[in-house]
Amino acid sequence: MQAPSVGGVMLPRGNGETIRLSRGASLTDFAEKINANPASLVAVMMNLGEMVTATQSVSDETLQLLAGEMNYTVQIVSPEEEDRELLESFDIEFGEDEGDEEDLVVRPPVVTVMGHVDHGKTRLLDAIRKTNVIAGEAGGITQHIGAYQVATEVNDEERKITFIDTPGHEAFTAMRARGAKSTDIAILVVAANDGVMPQTVEALNHAKAADVPIVVAVNKIDVEGADPTKVRGQLTEYGLVAEEYGGDTMFVDISAKQGLHIDSLLEAVVLTADASLDLRANPAQDAQGISIESRLDRGRGAVATVLVQRGTLRVGDTMVVGDAYGRVRAMLDDNGNNVAEAGPSTPVQVLGLTNVPGAGDNFLVVDEDRTARQIAEKRAARERNAAFAKRTRRVSLEDLDKVLKAGEVQQLNLIIKGDASGSVEALESSLLQLDVGEEVDIRVLHRGVGAVTESDIDLAMGSDAIVIGFNVRAAGRAAQMAEREGVDVRYYSVIYQAIEEIEAALKGMLKPEYEEVELGTAEIREVFKSSKLGNIAGVLIRSGEVKRNTKARLIRDGKVVAENLNIEGLRRFKDDVTEIREGYEGGINLGNFNDIKVDDVIATYEMREKPRA
Ligand code: GDP
Repeated sequence: MQAPSVGGVMLPRGNGETIRLSRGASLTDFAEKINANPASLVAVMMNLGEMVTATQSVSDETLQLLAGEMNYTVQIVSPEEEDRELLESFDIEFGEDEGDEEDLVVRPPVVTVMGHVDHGKTRLLDAIRKTNVIAGEAGGITQHIGAYQVATEVNDEERKITFIDTPGHEAFTAMRARGAKSTDIAILVVAANDGVMPQTVEALNHAKAADVPIVVAVNKIDVEGADPTKVRGQLTEYGLVAEEYGGDTMFVDISAKQGLHIDSLLEAVVLTADASLDLRANPAQDAQGISIESRLDRGRGAVATVLVQRGTLRVGDTMVVGDAYGRVRAMLDDNGNNVAEAGPSTPVQVLGLTNVPGAGDNFLVVDEDRTARQIAEKRAARERNAAFAKRTRRVSLEDLDKVLKAGEVQQLNLIIKGDASGSVEALESSLLQLDVGEEVDIRVLHRGVGAVTESDIDLAMGSDAIVIGFNVRAAGRAAQMAEREGVDVRYYSVIYQAIEEIEAALKGMLKPEYEEVELGTAEIREVFKSSKLGNIAGVLIRSGEVKRNTKARLIRDGKVVAENLNIEGLRRFKDDVTEIREGYEGGINLGNFNDIKVDDVIATYEMREKPRA
């Protein structure tokens, strides 16, 4: 049978079999699965009118299109599915409460505060925390661990609420992007003197997309010109209609600064939870949840704040958090007190993990240390593979010519390590926002919290990456290894400095652009004929200076009559010179170009590298 071909390219051909590929796979990954040459898949895509390089991560649609063309069926596996399958292979189910209805008990709502910058999110989180410390726990050292719990009285009943202590929707979205649902209710803060602003709308759209009910806190009512009614009117346009206007969204007018109506806001949160959510969990099972924030502590090692979503977490439990694992050595609550256990909706700081997990990673308690280690290792391996394939920024495909010269696309590979997940993420996103033109691509191969390790250097070696250490240093033999292998490891403690340097490095990587710089002009006063050298121009330098071995053009009556000439000989009187300055006379020999006349102008120039803006 003749092998089928498209436009002369031999096509690997299947029999409709199903290929499973991770989301964001590359043509190389695909080729591996079907035992084909990646280049042939690149060629197929080219014939289909899409320019794709072999290692670039492609969209689901592209994978489907390619599969269809070659008679395969492709099944895209999302990272969440992959993880679910991994856990299933250990007989673990993540995300569902065990048991029946009667095993479930009410748990506190988990709240995120969102809204436009400067509308008072941070101030509100402070105000709530200060005025509503859970009874009996006052006096402890208040510390920021990424989340805290407060109590409030609603209908003579003490009700708890958990707040995620990182204001803004970035954290919320980042967690959601990882498939983690961290938030039950969103408080949308709108300053009454400023009204609905772009990030107000953004925040409310995020909450809606996540199907999270919203309570509106109309803040800064103490400020002159505050107009809480106007805010209600504005938000109506976005589908948030206040209860007093017949809608189902609770609006509470507050002043975070003066601590006004904070209790009413908390009550509104509880009432909204009761009205629209069924917040219950089984406290009597192995704990599961998500990590909220984590960092490396000099004395205590990896410190991770986790939010228990179901079950009860206890000191001594063996847990896996993302690709970190370990036995819980100690737990601290948001007041810095040691606690022995933490139930549903409780945030606690956990000590005892092998390394630092990322924000939004899920956690689960398992029976055996060995299981924890295996899950963590499998996840780490998967992350590494994905990091190799992942391309966080794409070259512009607008210009087909450019893409065809794919070999000329340059990219800077980075590995970012830092002391806290927040700073690593901040650095990464700032770097990805750097705009240094279309020809350069920034790729973050790996990011993580903790020291620069040998495995980071390994990865850097394999992919010509630069390693960035933010407030961390190389651990153990990593520094020597980097030195030996010529891996560039750069340490920073200020984000903007890191950004500046990387930007400069990127500019250095860009192919130089040249511009023409005029050096000088010479007017021909006389033409001498030499039997050896041809015509020699007797000139007066009119401007600048004329140098030997620079480029020149000949201008006659204001028009360029010859280009790309070269000042081959330059003389003053009988002497060969390298340059003649303005106002002086001399002789110029243009090599074997002899078509010169009196009154012609020789303009000389050189190409200089243009500095990048
Ligand atoms: P965020 O960017 O949303 O976190 O806003 P902040 O909490 O940092 O607040 C921005 C500014 O508004 C700060 O100067 C606060 O002190 C001030 N602010 C916050 N809430 C109030 C309020 O209720 N009344 C007044 N007058 N100022 C407030």
